[in-house]
Amino acid sequence: MILELNGMYAGLRFASAHIVFGHDTCGVIHGHSYYVDVKVCGAPSGEFGFICDFKVLKKIVKDICGKLDHKLLIPENHPNLTYSINGDYIEFTFCKGEKVKEYKIPLEDVAILPTTSTTAEELSKYFAEIIKKELQALNLNSSSIYWVETTVNEGIGQGASYRATMEH
Ligand SMILES: [Zn+2]
Repeated sequence: MILELNGMYAGLRFASAHIVFGHDTCGVIHGHSYYVDVKVCGAPSGEFGFICDFKVLKKIVKDICGKLDHKLLIPENHPNLTYSINGDYIEFTFCKGEKVKEYKIPLEDVAILPTTSTTAEELSKYFAEIIKKELQALNLNSSSIYWVETTVNEGIGQGASYRATMEH
């Protein structure tokens, strides 16, 4: 059985800026209003016959959205990016072939993510892995949850999905 949260209707959203480094049109700083849809597959169990309490799941997703909201998203593991943190600033350089771009941004303006990029693809994986870990840490019926799937939508009608299988 699948439990489903629709990001647009459940208020699972964030507005952030990002850069798809090296891309001809998306390689500049630009932003999106993101919506995060979540599916949890499992067997109903416990006193109430829940797969997972909606309230618990929504809080996990909202907390992640809150960390990204109104920030410039920076991927920590991008192969063509070097960065250093100096005082209250992050300085990073994108370097690929002839193309070199340098940035200096206040730390409070950024969210540094443990990803290789900040595409919808990578963000959906980032969300799914955190939700999976949080559910496992809470130990909420975790043995009856099989997988968590998130879809990160860049605006309405286009998104990428990633499914994280629970480890038991
Ligand atoms: Zn974009």
